[in-house]
Amino acid sequence: MNYISTRGGCAPQSFEEVVLTGLAPDGGLFIPEKLPQVTPEQLQAWKKLEYNELAYEIIRLFTADAVDDAALKQMIDESYAQFSHPETAPLKHLADNEWVLELFHGPTLAFKDFALQLLGRLLDYFLQKRQQHVAILGATSGDTGSAALEGCRHSAFVDIFILHPHNRVSEVQRKQMTTVSGDNVHNIAIDGNFDDCQNIVKQAFADQGFLPDGYQLVAVNSINWARIMAQIVYYFYAALKFLDKHEAVSFSVPTGNFGDIYAGYLAKKMGLPVRQLIIATNKNDILHRFISNNQYQLGGLQASLSPSMDIMISSNFERFIYDMFAGDSARLKSFVTGLSQNTSQVSEKEWQFARSHFDSASVDDEGTCQVIREVFDQHDYLMDPHTAIGVKAAQICKADSTTPVISLATAHPAKFSAAIEKAGLETPVLPDHLSDLYEREENFVVLPDDLAEVKNFISQSL
Ligand SMILES: *Cc1c(COP(=O)(O)O)cnc(C)c1O
Repeated sequence: MNYISTRGGCAPQSFEEVVLTGLAPDGGLFIPEKLPQVTPEQLQAWKKLEYNELAYEIIRLFTADAVDDAALKQMIDESYAQFSHPETAPLKHLADNEWVLELFHGPTLAFKDFALQLLGRLLDYFLQKRQQHVAILGATSGDTGSAALEGCRHSAFVDIFILHPHNRVSEVQRKQMTTVSGDNVHNIAIDGNFDDCQNIVKQAFADQGFLPDGYQLVAVNSINWARIMAQIVYYFYAALKFLDKHEAVSFSVPTGNFGDIYAGYLAKKMGLPVRQLIIATNKNDILHRFISNNQYQLGGLQASLSPSMDIMISSNFERFIYDMFAGDSARLKSFVTGLSQNTSQVSEKEWQFARSHFDSASVDDEGTCQVIREVFDQHDYLMDPHTAIGVKAAQICKADSTTPVISLATAHPAKFSAAIEKAGLETPVLPDHLSDLYEREENFVVLPDDLAEVKNFISQSL
């Protein structure tokens, strides 16, 4: 299967190329040239599969000509063997047709492990074959960094550089990154905020001349197609558990960069019966304003109790815009690149297309704490603040009372004590494998918000 760029400016690429670069050379994002379709008979047969078996069936639809079957099976089995729950992604019942899909049983306690455990192994597979070394470079506001480090640190073919804003990630998040050991692991704290980190990363990708000969940068944030691909699996896994008794299910997804919910949209496009896809945002609500008012307009970035969703521009939304503009890459390019200057609207027809696929709600910090408290009191279930926003959005948006609504639980509550304590509850202890996190030795450098210094550090370390 080949992949094309949303901006239409490069020839179709193989899965291997797509995984090894991240962003398309024309600045666009890769999407499958033709999305595989799943028949009702396949769905029926998949109902009895374990998580890793289902992952294999779905992922090979996207990788078949690029990755050997046995190797793929092994990478998938190893990736999901790192999860501490026997079901990998267990469903929890809250109330009538209200469910939570727990995606936080991986090594770093957030859903990002689902994709990054596999991406690390895929990179290693391709790089070993090519006998090539690369430098992974990424910026993180918290969860991506640790999941990327955990997923990629075993590879002999990568050096991994993760930038985080100095003193602006939670203590658990910082320690989860800075206590990962290995000569190829480099944590860089930048004197600045997340946007500053992200800017340095973007500029480094745009001009890679500072790297030693033969090296290239690889992106592991959710613009990397392999991450979206891996996330499609749990939508199928969860929905299949309901399809004997129900015709369709709905999903509510705590949304930042739009990677997670875009995977749900693709699952639906592939043939999974999905009734509603609910975009749940915090007060950084550009997507909610677009879905509810046809206003796609930047606002100032605001810090919230759900920091992993504090994002102004959702990169992956470009992949949906491609469909909304019916594949018109020229229109897409002028729309997304002109965004910083003005408010953008789309045509009524395009907007209705978006609304036919997505519902949305925005929940502020107060609402977040309220719903954490409510669900704990009523159902004895403790949610992290991101998950809470999803559950609240599901309550606000659900179209009927007969379709099961599955809210994605994107992180373990122990990771986000600020919100839990604001809700008047006690932060739970960290799971066993992290119980000595506070005693582990930390390793990171602090660098100024300066591209040249970061480039220098990277080239010296390779
Ligand atoms: C990354 C993250 C999100 C947002 O996911 P996107 O794919 O960026 O929309 C939500 N919750 C948690 C806990 C996260 O780490």
